[in-house]
Amino acid sequence: MTTQKQTTQSPHKEKPDRSPASLHGRKPDSHNRRNYKQGGNLQDMLRKAGAMPRQTAKPQGSAGKTKKKTTRANAKWGHPRTRGKTTIKYRTTKTAVNIPPLQDGDIRIIPFGGVEEIGRNMTAIETKDDIIIVDCGLQFKEAETPGIDFILPNTKYLEEKKDKIRAILITHGHLDHIGGIPYITSRIGNPPIYTRNLTALMIKKRQEEFPDLPPLTLKVVDKEEKIRVGKTIVHFFSVTHTIPDAMGIIIETPYGRIVHTGDLKLDHMDGVPTKTEEKEFAKFEKGNTLLLMADSTNVERTGFSIPERKVHENLEHIIKEATGRLLIGTFASQIERIVHVIEAAEKYKKKVVIDGRSMKNNVEIALLAGIFKPQKDTIIPIEEMKNYPSEKIVALVTGAQGDEYAVLMRVANKSHRHIALDKRDTVVLSSSIVPGNERGVQKLKDNLSRQGAHIIHYQVSDIHSSGHANHDETLWIHKKIKPKFFIPVHGYHYMLRVHTEIAKKAGTPEQNVVIPDNGMIIDIKEEGRKIVQLKESAPKSLVMVDGFTVGDIQEVVIRDRQMLAQDGIFMVVVTIDVNNGKLRKSPDLISRGFVYIRESQELFKETRIIVKKTVEKTIVGMRPINFDYLKDIVTDEVSRHLFKKTNKRPIVIPVVLGV
Ligand SMILES: [Zn+2]
Ligand SMILES: [Zn+2]
Repeated sequence: MTTQKQTTQSPHKEKPDRSPASLHGRKPDSHNRRNYKQGGNLQDMLRKAGAMPRQTAKPQGSAGKTKKKTTRANAKWGHPRTRGKTTIKYRTTKTAVNIPPLQDGDIRIIPFGGVEEIGRNMTAIETKDDIIIVDCGLQFKEAETPGIDFILPNTKYLEEKKDKIRAILITHGHLDHIGGIPYITSRIGNPPIYTRNLTALMIKKRQEEFPDLPPLTLKVVDKEEKIRVGKTIVHFFSVTHTIPDAMGIIIETPYGRIVHTGDLKLDHMDGVPTKTEEKEFAKFEKGNTLLLMADSTNVERTGFSIPERKVHENLEHIIKEATGRLLIGTFASQIERIVHVIEAAEKYKKKVVIDGRSMKNNVEIALLAGIFKPQKDTIIPIEEMKNYPSEKIVALVTGAQGDEYAVLMRVANKSHRHIALDKRDTVVLSSSIVPGNERGVQKLKDNLSRQGAHIIHYQVSDIHSSGHANHDETLWIHKKIKPKFFIPVHGYHYMLRVHTEIAKKAGTPEQNVVIPDNGMIIDIKEEGRKIVQLKESAPKSLVMVDGFTVGDIQEVVIRDRQMLAQDGIFMVVVTIDVNNGKLRKSPDLISRGFVYIRESQELFKETRIIVKKTVEKTIVGMRPINFDYLKDIVTDEVSRHLFKKTNKRPIVIPVVLGV
C-alpha cells in the first residue's frame, strides 16, 4: 500500500478549463472534482498522524513564491481567468545522459515530442555551431495519466546545451506548437522566438499568465524574410491551415535545405491545388532539399480534404437561411472560420455574440492582429441579444465537444444565463468529434434537441474540415518538395508509417526514411550522403504539468490516482492507550469513493472489530510499540477483509495515534 509521500496535490484544486481552446480539440476533463467539505479535516488528520506531508514540497528551481490563495484555480490554460499569477515549480530527476557528440560537418535531428502522439510538437536541428528548435508545444493528458493537466516534451538534452541554442521557430499558434513555451523557454536559456504576427500575439497573451518568468524575446518575421540565427540561414513558406499566419520552415545547410512543414493542408478545387499553393511550393522546384519533415495527422484519410472554402460557403448559406437564432459551436483555434462567420453574419445584416472565454480571447487576438475589421456594431454584448429579433442573432460559442462547462453544454443544461433555446433556433456543431468525446457530444445533442432546437453537425453537412492534409494532398506535397531524406512527424506511430508509404510513392527510397520515436537521435552524415539513427536516445521520460508542478511525476502518484478513481480510499484511525495496549475508543473509519456508507453499516462494523482485534493482538507485549509495523499489519488485514466482502481494493490508509 502506498501513501502519497510525494504528492503536493490538494483536493481543492480546481480543474483547469480544458475547453478545446486550441490544439485540435482534446477532451475537456469532465471529472467533477468534488470539493469535499471534510476533505480538509481528513488531510489535517493525516498530517497530524504523519501519514502525509504538509503541502510545502519545495521542488528545485522554484521560480518564486506561489500565491496559493489567488492562483490555485487559475491554472486555466490558454488564457487566465484572473490575469497572470501562475508560478511554476520544477521537479527533475537527474538522468545521466551519455550521448555521442555530434561530429563536425554532421547534422543532428531530434524530435522531442509529437511523433508518438498528437501534440507536444518540438524538434531540434543541431549543427556544429547552432541548435535551432522548431515549435514548442504541449499535449493534453492521456486517459492513463489522471489529474495531469498536460504533458510536455522532455527537453533535458537541450537544457544541457542551452548555450548552443540560437532560436525557437514557431510554425503557428495552436497549443500543440506554442503551449510548452512558458514551461520550457527559461529552462533552455530563453532563446529568441521567431514567428509571424498572429502567432506572436497568441504567445504573448498566454505568457501573461506567467508573470514571474523572464520576458520572452519575440521576433516577428515576414514570410518572405530571410534571417540568420547563429551561423544558419532560415527562411519560411506560407502554408494553409486553420489559423492565419501558419508557416513552414526552411533551414539552409551546406548539403541542401531542411524543410519542416508544420501543420498544413492544401487549398484546392476538386483535388487541384490552387494557384497560390502552386506558387508557394514552386520554391522547392529547384530541388536540393536534403530533408523533409512533414505533418502526418491525416495521411490515413483518402483523397483530398474538404477545403475550408467549402465549409465557409456552407456556413454562409446556413447563416443566410436561419429563421431563428443560430448558435455555432466550433474550436476556438479555428480562427479563419470564426472570422468568416462574423463576416458572413455582417453581410446578411445580423449581429454576432461571442461567448466562451477561449472564443472571446481568440476573436480579440484576431482583431488585434488586424485579420479582419468588422463594423463596430456587428459584435454585440451577450446582454443585448434580447433586443434583437431571433433571426438577427448569430452566436459563436465554445463547447462543440460536449465539454462540461463550456457554453453549449450550459445551454443544453438550461443553465446559461442569456441563452434559452426554442423551436426556431438552430445549433451548428462545426467540428468533428475528437476521439474520447463521443459520449459528451451525444449528451449535448440529446439535450439541445430536447429543447426543440434544430441541430446540424458535420456528419450531415460539410461544416467542418480538419487542418491537415489527406493522403493525396500529402503525396502532392512530397512530389513538389522532392526531398532526399524524409522523417515523418506529427502523429501516432502508425500514422508516421502510413506517411512513409506516401514518401515511397513519391520516390524517396526506403533507406532514406527514418521513422522517429520521441527522443530519437538522427544524424545526417558524410556530407549529407547518409542518414543514421543512433542507438542512444535523448532523455524521453514523460514530463507532466500537474497543477503548478512540472516534472517527471513519479509513477506511484499516477498509480495511486488510478486506484483512487477505481476503488476509492479507506481510512482507519486508531487511538491506542500506550499504557495498557488497548484502544481508547472504537476505530474511526472514513471512506470516499468506495462504498455507499449508509448501506454498508454491516461492513463497517465488521471492519471495526477486525481493526480492534488486529491492533490489540499485534501490540501485546510490544514495548515500545512499533507503529510502522502495526500500520502495515492493519492495512493488510483491512484490505483483505474489504476485498473479500466487496471485491474492491480501495487505498487503505491507517492512522495510529498513541496517547
Ligand atoms: Zn495546428
Ligand atoms: Zn498541430
